[in-house]
Amino acid sequence: MVSTITKEQTAKEYVQAVYDKVISRNQGESEFHQAVKEIFDSLIPAIEANPQYIKHNILERIVEPERVVYFRVPWLDDNGNVQVNRGFRVQFNSAIGPYKGGLRFHPSVNASIIKFLGFEQIFKNSLTGQPIGGGKGGSDFDPKGKSDNEVMRFCQSFMTELYRYIGPDTDVPAGDIGVGGREIGYMFGQYKRIRSGNEAGVLTGKGLLYGGSLTRTEATGYGCVYFVNEMLESKGLSYEGSTVVVSGSGNVSIYAIEKATQLGAKVVACSDSNGYIYDADGIDLALVKQLKEVDRKRISEYVKSRPQATYTEGCTGIWSIPCDIALPCATQNEINEESAKVLVANGVKAIGEGANMPSTLEAIEVFLNAGVLFGPAKAANAGGVAVSALEMSQNSMRQSWTFEEVDAKLHQIMKNIFNNSTAAAEKYGHPGNLVVGANIAGFTKVADIMIAHGVV
Ligand code: NDP
Repeated sequence: MVSTITKEQTAKEYVQAVYDKVISRNQGESEFHQAVKEIFDSLIPAIEANPQYIKHNILERIVEPERVVYFRVPWLDDNGNVQVNRGFRVQFNSAIGPYKGGLRFHPSVNASIIKFLGFEQIFKNSLTGQPIGGGKGGSDFDPKGKSDNEVMRFCQSFMTELYRYIGPDTDVPAGDIGVGGREIGYMFGQYKRIRSGNEAGVLTGKGLLYGGSLTRTEATGYGCVYFVNEMLESKGLSYEGSTVVVSGSGNVSIYAIEKATQLGAKVVACSDSNGYIYDADGIDLALVKQLKEVDRKRISEYVKSRPQATYTEGCTGIWSIPCDIALPCATQNEINEESAKVLVANGVKAIGEGANMPSTLEAIEVFLNAGVLFGPAKAANAGGVAVSALEMSQNSMRQSWTFEEVDAKLHQIMKNIFNNSTAAAEKYGHPGNLVVGANIAGFTKVADIMIAHGVV
């Protein structure tokens, strides 16, 4: 039976009662349950100190999206067959500003995945200090193996429905897994055509020739590395001379590899959804970029040009490679308890979550108990959405800032997120625990604004 919610409950009873409701109202949505649990567990000290959050029933309101849209996306493949995918947009919370969050195109996409990502996005966006609310969307369409024309027809059909719900001041999507510059370009073209006008601020991650921001491509990977650098420096450590393992070989991974290497690290491994490569001499990033960004090939091809490297089928083995710093940048739940234990046994010093929710709850527990520096996703990978907000500012002002200007702003934002998360962890009795710190710092701002707006 689901417990009732009252103003008289203790913080623990309240959190449990709302969590029970989340489970019963969103049955089978395991990723969404996991994301809610990760946040709720760390909010208890903030709710104890701020009983007004119970009085205004903030938690039950914040786990309910303001709006969810599901839609049919029909398109024609190159053989003239009619294909049908499902589109999603979850407009989770607009307390701070327009809904903001990426679109994911991957066969695994379903309501649970989009809701977990949208829920996380509320707190991440709050942490950036930028005026953006939380949202997320996508489709179970798989761009892999599709021709450019098929991708274009799909994107046009997707936008033909999505355009009704988005706009520069209401909801501003961007990229995520499977959605890069090509897909954003096709969707922007279709939006512009339907709306009969050029509203540059409706999407971010655009090409530089039509309103995109310099540094947006690099922002999530660079930001993750900057965040980990803050963690390392707080303990008198640095990237210099360290060994780094990065999972994935997509947008976030490539620029995490680039920045970590620039800061003096040797990155020895990366992966895709089929397997991973290990190159003891350090990853040849130009080769990875060519394979993944230009040729759209599998990472296994890497060893054809670098015979001293090895390729291993399967993804989890990458965490058995000894390293000082691990940056999971591929997908959710890619580090489980067992992999976390192996990383700790091999002496890992820091984890920076470039992907969203890449560590299971059990894995996070292992890292925190072992005293490993742990940068949770909503803090460590907030650089992408932060620069998306800077792209919106530039579009509104009809200006373009230089790479150096945007990179400096990104760097400062990542420092602020680290400092604010560290301060919140300290204030609420969990010094050094950035999971607690980031969750509370992100949450309290949204909660206070929701109270100010009344029951809406
Ligand atoms: P990309 O599509 O560019 O790259 C994803 C990478 O992860 C690819 O190498 C892909 O391999 C691999 N991957 C995908 N699914 C799996 C899987 N099930 N197992 C193992 N590897 C997998 O996406 P991004 O780099 O943009 O996103 C990566 C992560 O970062 C996601 O969690 C995303 O939500 C998060 N993120 C992204 C932001 C951005 O700005 N792009 C912002 C904040 C977070 P393959 O090619 O085989 O599919």
